[in-house]
Amino acid sequence: MWKRRWFHVLILALVFIGGAFYWLVMESDPLGEKPFSLDIAAIRHLANSMPGDKPSEIRVERIASFTFPAAAIMAGDSWTQQTLPANSYQLVFPDRTIVIDSAMSQEQANAMGTTSGFDDAAYERMSKGLRAASLILITHEHPDHLGGAAAIAPQVIAQLRLTRQQVDNLDRSDPVTFPKAALSGYQPLEYDRAMAVAPGVVVIRSPGHTPGSQIIFVRTANRNEVLFLGDVAWHIANVREVRERPRLLTMAMREDRSEVMGELAALHGLSLAEPQIAIVPGHDGQVIDDLVEQKVMIHGFK
Ligand SMILES: [Zn+2]
Repeated sequence: MWKRRWFHVLILALVFIGGAFYWLVMESDPLGEKPFSLDIAAIRHLANSMPGDKPSEIRVERIASFTFPAAAIMAGDSWTQQTLPANSYQLVFPDRTIVIDSAMSQEQANAMGTTSGFDDAAYERMSKGLRAASLILITHEHPDHLGGAAAIAPQVIAQLRLTRQQVDNLDRSDPVTFPKAALSGYQPLEYDRAMAVAPGVVVIRSPGHTPGSQIIFVRTANRNEVLFLGDVAWHIANVREVRERPRLLTMAMREDRSEVMGELAALHGLSLAEPQIAIVPGHDGQVIDDLVEQKVMIHGFK
């Protein structure tokens, strides 16, 4: 009799563990999707609203890489290992440059303990690019995006425009910290839904992955259009299949999963309606390689 009882307990435990595993690791959909509007006509209008030349080049540096199983990038995917590069982007105007995201330093990468590769020469070129930039924009307050700027904060704080929400949530960039003095009297970027920050460059609030996440739209002088997603998606598969990271990671990173799912749905709709717009997820090396091949991006900062 006791044997049968233990057998039932074992079956129940397995069902519970199986259900928990499915919910935490395999399943993508949230209980509700928060609608996200991506009005491309309004975004283009903003991109054209500032007088002056639009950027003539978009350059990219691959600073570091992480290795994660595909199942960590998109719930329900395989367990094969994937490389996730941490990049920095440079918009080249006739008279100045803008940098989007700053990856991280070797020291910060070591502190995160998850990197599998680091390019010292690329990091040096990026740091030089950050110091020379007229404006530095960060997609979101995570260490692998703002670390490079934080590492040389006193030299770049005047051109670094963190948003109000990014400054208010800098605890999320642990283990990267900003020297307190660098942020005293700091004037963050404040805007409601979207704003032009330079000719052809528009920031779009997209909270969810972090409270301070923003998508950055760039329209170049030769009419290429690129959406830098930050980590709304790590890989383009998240947009194609409208599937999130596993719930376990959402919980660990304190994401608002409903907001991210709404953004993925809107991006998927846009990718079907306007397939010529290049969608650049936070860590998809193949997407970057393809854009370099298509001459939408150029390897290496100026
Ligand atoms: Zn990231």
